[in-house]
Amino acid sequence: MAQEITIVGAGWAGLAAAVKATQLGLKVNLFEATHTPGGRAKSVVHQGALFDNGQHALIGAYSDTLELLQTIGLEAQALFKRHSLKWSYPNGACFGLPQDAYPFKALRSLLLCRRFSAVEKSSLLKPLLFALSHMLWAKEDDTVANLFKGVSPQIMRDIVSPLCLSALNTPISRASAKTFVRVLRDAFSNPPESCEFLFPIVPLGEVFPLPCLNWLRERGARIELGHRIDSLDALDPKVPCILALPPWQASKLTQDKHAEWSNLAGNLKHEAIASIYLKGERSAAHSNPAHANPYPLVCLNEHFEAENCVHPQFAIQRLAPFETVPFERPSNDPLTKDSLTEDSLTEHWALIVSAAGPSERQKIIEHALLAARNHLKLQNVQLQLCTMEKRATFSCDAKLQRPPSFISEGLMACGDYVQGPYPGTLEGAVRSGLRAVTELTHY
Ligand SMILES: Cc1cc2nc3c(=O)[nH]c(=O)nc-3n(C[C@H](O)[C@H](O)[C@H](O)COP(=O)(O)OP(=O)(O)OC[C@H]3O[C@@H](n4cnc5c(N)ncnc54)[C@H](O)[C@@H]3O)c2cc1C
Repeated sequence: MAQEITIVGAGWAGLAAAVKATQLGLKVNLFEATHTPGGRAKSVVHQGALFDNGQHALIGAYSDTLELLQTIGLEAQALFKRHSLKWSYPNGACFGLPQDAYPFKALRSLLLCRRFSAVEKSSLLKPLLFALSHMLWAKEDDTVANLFKGVSPQIMRDIVSPLCLSALNTPISRASAKTFVRVLRDAFSNPPESCEFLFPIVPLGEVFPLPCLNWLRERGARIELGHRIDSLDALDPKVPCILALPPWQASKLTQDKHAEWSNLAGNLKHEAIASIYLKGERSAAHSNPAHANPYPLVCLNEHFEAENCVHPQFAIQRLAPFETVPFERPSNDPLTKDSLTEDSLTEHWALIVSAAGPSERQKIIEHALLAARNHLKLQNVQLQLCTMEKRATFSCDAKLQRPPSFISEGLMACGDYVQGPYPGTLEGAVRSGLRAVTELTHY
């Protein structure tokens, strides 16, 4: 077995691979092009405050990610706030699954949900049975829209479409039914907490990338931040290597020597995600349904056509940015002035536009501000930051051919896009990082 390993890229996949390799006793050389680890899931400083470079949420079924955090000595309770799978709609109605949402309980909770009529609910039964059989027997993939054909438009708009967009970042008309059903299966058939949402309560960089780097350094890893690898020739050919890069970078590096693999990675299509961070005041005298609901998650989907995805689908109430910063802020920092006043309370929200079009930034901001005023009923709404990641994840389309982790002997790839059961998520990235090390060390 090799004594040493090179990992290129310190996103969640590369860091997971580095932890696994260290556990196996390998000497790790980790190269990262930027000066901050975390890749697409890290914190960014904006006007003196820390934000995430995209609002992230995990679910309890992200078992490998949660285990990895434990491995490096982190406690999930200190990093996330857990919420059962519930959200409210701007009109005050809410949809939620009980904490112990095993499949039949999930079905029961849907049947009891007052938002939908009996006819609408019954429209779901056939596709749910179909989904179950799809999960168990289907060999061919299909789109989520086809899988749920016949379901009432309201249920598609208010439940299926927002769930699919948040899980796969791909519209239902193209999204892979197999992958969607797989995520649902993991969320609903495992222990009860699998279907809970986990919202970070510390900056994303502190959730994993920064503590992970410290953990690796303490164990002797050689970590080179700000070191971009532009060619495979720059690496020691005698040391096995894992490319933990986004697909377009991995494709570039492998173009000359591994054209077939490179084409598979390079041909993937991508979806954007916009996160609009804003704050606004809620007058105590004008408490509204969204506020009256104790849920930090509001589904805004009913206010736009499902396929026209330039509007926010979800709004997540978050801690004020300064509260998430682990260091002291100067007392004259304007952000520290947000506070409870006599008749109003400042609230912080992140509105999320999944599968956002690439050039709609201004439109997205306008819609988000409108949604905050009209649907979240906030006053004096102020935009704090809009992050727009044009290639946030690959398009998780039906029948998509994803590149395998094996490139050539001694050279593997990992990342959220590499073949695996998950869509472009943190869990997908972590799993592929762990798997790449296992496979590489078996050669
Ligand atoms: C806005 C947004 C919201 C998201 N929301 C969620 C969510 O709620 N839940 C969820 O599970 N997932 C979410 N995701 C997806 C998740 O962030 C990604 O799936 C995951 O971060 C991908 O990790 P990765 O390690 O595969 O790739 P990356 O994060 O892209 O890491 C690749 C690393 O390689 C480095 N690199 C690139 N080129 C080179 C080079 N030539 N040499 C050296 N280093 C290089 C990069 O700087 C980067 O650090 C979201 C993504 C975005 C953008």
